[in-house]
Amino acid sequence: MTLGKDWAIAWIEGCVKTVSEHREELIELDRAIGDGDHGENLDRGFTAVKSKLSSADVSNSGDVLKLVATTLMSTVGGASGPLLGTAFLRAAKEVTAENLGPRDLVAMLEAGLAGIQARGKADEGEKTMVDAWAPAVRAAEKAAKDGLAPEAVLRAAADAAQAGAVATGPLKATKGRASYLGERSIGHRDPGATSSAYLLEEAAKAAEK
Ligand SMILES: [Mg+2]
Repeated sequence: MTLGKDWAIAWIEGCVKTVSEHREELIELDRAIGDGDHGENLDRGFTAVKSKLSSADVSNSGDVLKLVATTLMSTVGGASGPLLGTAFLRAAKEVTAENLGPRDLVAMLEAGLAGIQARGKADEGEKTMVDAWAPAVRAAEKAAKDGLAPEAVLRAAADAAQAGAVATGPLKATKGRASYLGERSIGHRDPGATSSAYLLEEAAKAAEK
């Protein structure tokens, strides 16, 4: 698939579906080390995105991502709404071509991560969504440098995000609500890293169609 507006819409429709499918899992993960609302919050947010997207007049992928950003910011409670909203907004600003290439995708992912870190002040290894995004950015950068196709850049990012989310299990949380648990946060995967990996997986899947 050419990576333009149709890809962005397919990506976001995939996000709506995956968040709904993993709602209970995300609730359970957040119940273990947070306040248990992550699955419900995200599902509410992406349900609102779906309804807005169906009636909105979007002319390019940047418009799609901007709509996602503003909707998540206004409908998702807790920390994840502003964090993901900022990520999508910053990524949207990097959309300068209608047909996105490897470099554009890397720039979007880098901007998304920078937005999350500007808002959340978390570094890698603190058991947050940064632990999915940071390896995703590195993998995308490498794939683009190696001359891979856009869909392969997104695949590399998605796989690295998933590995990063899994790797949050043994970490001790030092940022966010889970940090109050200290050692007791060890052994549970971070819900934010997990959901971010699901969202990035959908970006790759939409491109592979
Ligand atoms: Mg929560």
